[in-house]
Amino acid sequence: MTKKFKIAVIPGDGVGKEVVAEGIKVLDHLAQESNGKFEFEYDHYPWGCEYYLEHGKMISDDGVEKMRDYDAIYFGAVGFPGVPDHVSLWGLRLAICQGLDQWANIRPVEFLPGVPRRITHPDADNLNWILIRENSEGEYSGIGGRNFDGRGEGKEVAVQTSLFTEKGCERIIRFAFETARTRKRKKVTSVTKSNAQQYGMVLWDEVFERVSREYPDVETDQWLVDAMAAQFVMHPEELEVVVASNLFADILSDLGSALSGSLGIASSANLNPEGRTPSMFESVHGSAPDIAGKGIANPIGTIDSASLMLDHLGLEEEAKALHEAIRATTGKGILTRDIGGNYDTEDVTGAIIENLSVVT
Ligand code: ATP
Ligand code: MG
Repeated sequence: MTKKFKIAVIPGDGVGKEVVAEGIKVLDHLAQESNGKFEFEYDHYPWGCEYYLEHGKMISDDGVEKMRDYDAIYFGAVGFPGVPDHVSLWGLRLAICQGLDQWANIRPVEFLPGVPRRITHPDADNLNWILIRENSEGEYSGIGGRNFDGRGEGKEVAVQTSLFTEKGCERIIRFAFETARTRKRKKVTSVTKSNAQQYGMVLWDEVFERVSREYPDVETDQWLVDAMAAQFVMHPEELEVVVASNLFADILSDLGSALSGSLGIASSANLNPEGRTPSMFESVHGSAPDIAGKGIANPIGTIDSASLMLDHLGLEEEAKALHEAIRATTGKGILTRDIGGNYDTEDVTGAIIENLSVVT
């Protein structure tokens, strides 16, 4: 019997629209080639900054609830000149992540063959690690306010509070340990700044130490985020599964993708690991207004995110084949401009589809 997957598609703004369209081409190709094993049914939603400029909101009032009907969400990017970034981010992406309790954000770092990398490590071809980002609280709790004059000086004051709950820390740390158990080298690195953030991040550290005792087979270490930024560059061979708070992991993931060549190739998954709500798949990069509309955006981050989506939907073989097809494509030098090539967005997708036919 044909498995039918219902996918909500939110292309968003800028290059988001272009790269999501490429990802769907690849998904359609895989479904066609599956000989009736599975098919995808898409609903497109026009949410994003253009929707905001027309309707005064980034997503319709019932939007987040509507998403519950789907097996997965495929997301482009948000951001548009003229709409403040915090409005677009909170209004759509974070509304969905937090509304659907997608509390684990997975961001793999890998060095694709043929892609000029900004790392001189002799074994870079074989390096890869997974960054696991706490995706529901921490520095993105949204708690705070402006305009109260706390010091009586007639100047504005802003308060931005991080929220760390034992439950929130424990579930993401446990998820990191479970992920480590699926890998050849079983190691979890925890990243905080608990010397300076003496409440929330000390709680995180305590939970990490407690949970780690349940996983004696998993090696651990604990780092401060500033030292970890240096470690990404100096000793990436030490990294396997890295777990960090919402803000720190966001910053480290841009560093990881830049090291591996470009923001354009980094994929990510926002998961509700319990499977109570649909998970959302998107590239790490933003709407890239500087290159939008030119047909030159790198589609790999978004297409590789579709591979994470396939894996999540139980199509593990197809997920692996797609990832291999991406590697084969870059290995043959079919690269967009951001990674030193001269190919357009559609050329790269075409080559990935061609390579898929070879590997499947
Ligand atoms: P956001 O606030 O949404 O995270 P941002 O301001 O961090 O966005 P991005 O949109 O991620 O910015 O772009 C950062 C840089 O990376 C830009 O120069 C952009 O052109 C480049 N870039 C991002 N995505 C891609 C892509 N898919 N292909 C090529 N270059 C990209
Ligand atoms: Mg960014």
